[in-house]
This record gives sequence, C-alpha cells and structure tokens, in this order.
Amino acid sequence: MTRYLEADLTWTGERFEPGVRIGIGKDGRIASVGTEALPGESAIERLPGRALLPGFVNVHSHAFQRGLRGRGETCPAGAAGSFWTWREAMYGLVEKMTEERISELSYQAFREMRAAGITTVGEFHYLHHEGPGADFAFDDAILEAAERAGIRLVLLEAYYRTGGIGTPLSPAQRRFDGVSPAAYWRQMDALGGRLGRDQTLGAVVHSVRAANLGELGEIYREARRRGLVFHIHVEEQQKEIEDCLAAYGKRPMEALLGACGGAEGITAVHCTHTAPDDLVRFLGGGGTACICPATEGNLGDGLPDLAGFVAAHGEAAARLALGTDSNARISFLEEMRWLEYGQRVRTETRGALRDATGAVAPVLLKAATLGGARSLGIEAGEIRPGAWADLVEIDLACPALDGWEPETLLPSLIFGGGNAEIAGTWVGGRR
Ligand SMILES: [Zn+2]
Repeated sequence: MTRYLEADLTWTGERFEPGVRIGIGKDGRIASVGTEALPGESAIERLPGRALLPGFVNVHSHAFQRGLRGRGETCPAGAAGSFWTWREAMYGLVEKMTEERISELSYQAFREMRAAGITTVGEFHYLHHEGPGADFAFDDAILEAAERAGIRLVLLEAYYRTGGIGTPLSPAQRRFDGVSPAAYWRQMDALGGRLGRDQTLGAVVHSVRAANLGELGEIYREARRRGLVFHIHVEEQQKEIEDCLAAYGKRPMEALLGACGGAEGITAVHCTHTAPDDLVRFLGGGGTACICPATEGNLGDGLPDLAGFVAAHGEAAARLALGTDSNARISFLEEMRWLEYGQRVRTETRGALRDATGAVAPVLLKAATLGGARSLGIEAGEIRPGAWADLVEIDLACPALDGWEPETLLPSLIFGGGNAEIAGTWVGGRR
C-alpha cells in the first residue's frame, strides 16, 4: 500500500515545485514522484505551510565528542590552543567513557542531528573498547543509539593501530585499538549480523598516522571486494604532513593513493592542507572530499583550497560532502553556507561553488545530500523513485524566510536559516 505526501513545495532536483505527490512504499522507499491526479485524492497526506527537501546526509561525525561542547573552549594558560591541545581534552573524555555514557551522548547527538534536518549520519567510530581488552563494547552502543534516535546510520568502523607513524598506541589511545586487520574484519562480520533496518557498514582506517601503509591498502582492498565505502582522515594537520614526508617521503594524500592504487570509493575527510594538484587527482579519480567547516573553524584547522578543483572540473558538488565532525555545533544549513563562505574568505571572491547558471545554493545542497549519499554508498539524497523516503520538512512561516519566493527560497534557507526552519524529518518513510 503506497502512501502519498504533498507539501506546498517539493525540491525536484533543480527547483521547488508545487503540487508534487511523493508516493512512499511500505518498504520505506519512494515509489513515485509526480503531479498527476491520483485515484484516491482524499488519501493524500497534505503538509500545508511546508516545503520538502531530500534529507541531509552527514558524512562525518564523532558522536561522543558532543560531550566536549563548551568544554574544549578554554586555552591553556599563557598560550594559544591548537588541534593538539584540543585533542588532550578529547582524550580526557575518552578515558572516562563508559558504555552508558557513550550511548547517552550518541543519542543526544543523533537527536540533535534530526532536529537539524539530518536523516543519515556516517558515524566515524574509533572509540571501541570499554574494558582493558579489545571488547568492542562501544560499537553496539552506537547501533542502539542510532536506532533509538531514528536516524539512518552508516557505521564507519575505524581501524586504529599506531599512535603516530611507526609508534605504538599511547595509553590514552588504547580504547581505539583495532588489533589486526583480521580481528577488524571479524568484528565487521559480527556487526553485520546486528544491524537494524536503517543501518549499514563502511570501512575506515583512521588516518595515515593510525596504521602502516600495508595494512591501509589491505583494508581498502577488502572493503572494495565487499562493496563497502572506505573513509579516512587526510591532511587535517600540517604535522601529519610533516611526519608522513619524514617517514615515507610522500604527503598523506600521495601515500594514500599509492597504498590503495586509486581513489575509487574513498572519502578523504578534511583535505585541509591537500596540495591543489593532489586534490584534483584524488577527486578526478573518483574520490570524495568531506569538508567539516564548523569543526575546522572551531579547531582552528584551516580550510581547503577548492578553487583549483572547481577551475579544473566546473561544478564540484558531486565530489564534495559535508560533516559535523566534532559536533561542537550541529546545524547542517550552517555547514552548507560555510562550505562557500570558507572559499569566499580565502579568495575574497563570491561564488567559488557555483553551477553553470551561477547559482550557489543548489551546489551547496547537493554536497549536503547527493554528495553525502554517494560517499556513504546509500540510495538517498534525492527525491526520486527507488531512493529511501528520507525527507526534511521546512517551515515556510519561519521569520528568517519572510519574503521568500519559489526561486529565492533555497538561498534564503541556506544563507539565512539555522535549525528553527526545520519542521520535521522523515527517515525511510517514518516521520
Ligand atoms: Zn574526524
């Protein structure tokens, strides 16, 4: 039995249109999209005063770091802070973590994501163990918290084996231990049997700091064989680049591409300091770059140079995705506008991320939806038959949108909105 939804306006890929009926099958997928009259008109569920967008896809989150909100914001006495001083605060949180606490923090973060219009989260999960051994107790806490929050989850199970290149894990990192690639895949198999309806897996090596290149390539190849996406942090920090050059004579992106033999199916998170040529090679070879603007701002990491890629390939949205990363702030509309604002601030020009017509907002929306879905290997991010019925309802009566017209609604929302405009979310056809 198909249900039908009709909002005042529906985003159909290029524009908002009135009178669009979205048919939702009982499998939770979109069965039809159209404006034709239906036999049972009275059965249509109307959403007056609402516009519908595809649900936002948050490609990169560490849900437990929600516990640091407001706590990592005081710099050490007498010195400016950095990513590395923030990391000490994060490790303090890690040391005290319990299964109950990670479940509570993850639930809190996932609920907040839904309120921000996010219907899928890629949880880049490296904090695995509760006890002194490798018990992977925290993995199930993530599955359970996502199920409870009703968010679609791609559990990006992370392999973490070295504390830095060629160095053992520090005591603060013991809870991340991936043990060995064989133990990692055993855990992936076990998790595969415990996934909920809206849950899938992705493979991860934390960074070139966290595993040797042989293991990195081995895990990537097995992920490809299994049809899984592969994610890794790349070049967020200058120190990572210096260490990688010292150890391998290559920058991390070059080392990654060498170890994997290509970029297909890889999402590189951050790419903050990636050389423009490396970024063009990576994205042109089928990779996706996930940018986390609010977190890069909060941590003082910097922002990538996307202008080179845009110049070489035109519209960049299909190769970009967005993440809330440290969850210091959860607002996906804010992430979208800062994807563009970051480039404006870097280049003192407007419209680094524009389409052929010069419009910016649709490009930002694509990164937040289709680009994310591609990165996570899910059928979502657009309102089309066959995709999951993952939707965001926008409240057209919100004061920040006053004065909207169908053509200005999307930029009004992305450049002027926050979370107050999000009236509801649908995941797999369930509100
Ligand atoms: Zn991260």
